[in-house]
Amino acid sequence: MATAIVTGGSRGIGAAIARELAGRGHDVVVNCAGSLDKAEAVAAECREKGVRAKAMAWDVADFEACQTAVKQIREEFGAPTILVNNAGITADGLLMRMKEEQFDKVLRVNLKGTFNMMQACSALMVRAKTGRIINLSSVAGVMGNAGQANYAASKAGVIGMTKSAAKELGARGITVNAIAPGFVATDMTDALPEGVREKAEQQIALGRFGRPEEIAALAGFLASDEASYITGQAIVVDGGLG
Ligand code: NAP
Repeated sequence: MATAIVTGGSRGIGAAIARELAGRGHDVVVNCAGSLDKAEAVAAECREKGVRAKAMAWDVADFEACQTAVKQIREEFGAPTILVNNAGITADGLLMRMKEEQFDKVLRVNLKGTFNMMQACSALMVRAKTGRIINLSSVAGVMGNAGQANYAASKAGVIGMTKSAAKELGARGITVNAIAPGFVATDMTDALPEGVREKAEQQIALGRFGRPEEIAALAGFLASDEASYITGQAIVVDGGLG
């Protein structure tokens, strides 16, 4: 079984993915930005499934911090051969009013954070001759979304980076895929105003927001041997929104 890193694993989709991977027998490092207590609670749930698991806080937007964390993980757990780049933030606003800082911080965490972690882990995967990289994009990165120019740009960038990395790393036995969820019930979507939420639900064929576990199931599959011939894909999981 492999060592997996799940960034942003303290809550929402990342926590569900950490539990899913632990359920499949993988050791899991549960990353977070600041809520180490929550990440530790998720790691404890993973350990109950009989695997090793540890909570670790670092900022994925910080290149050096990613290098240091991956080095430490390699020493403690062995080379990580599953990487789930799930950490993400929003800072919504209409383009005309969006501040430079609002744009930069979303790009730094969502896009550069994904690069930082792929950069830190890919050489170890090449050496191990195996690897599964799963990047969280969003339907916003596929279709665009008013008020989310920064977020949509970061998530479209994640898809381009995923497809490029798949081409670079395929010959080394490493698959790289993106998951593009629609609306999923987490802290991120809890922040939506009531009217926006109802309108969104009306546009979803299944008539409801997704559950984090419904995204985690795909991540678990993409990390498995059964998904060995799938790479360079951006798979939409949106309940029929698109
Ligand atoms: P969430 O509930 O808001 O959780 C965000 C997670 O990211 C937390 O664990 C947070 O850690 C971590 N994080 C934030 N900034 C970080 C940083 N700089 N370094 C390390 N960790 C950081 O988010 P979610 O709704 O589960 O979304 C997970 C992913 O799916 C994101 O990439 C998001 O863009 C994507 N997505 C979500 C939806 C949706 O509807 N929810 C739809 C499409 C795509 P702390 O707890 O320490 O803050």
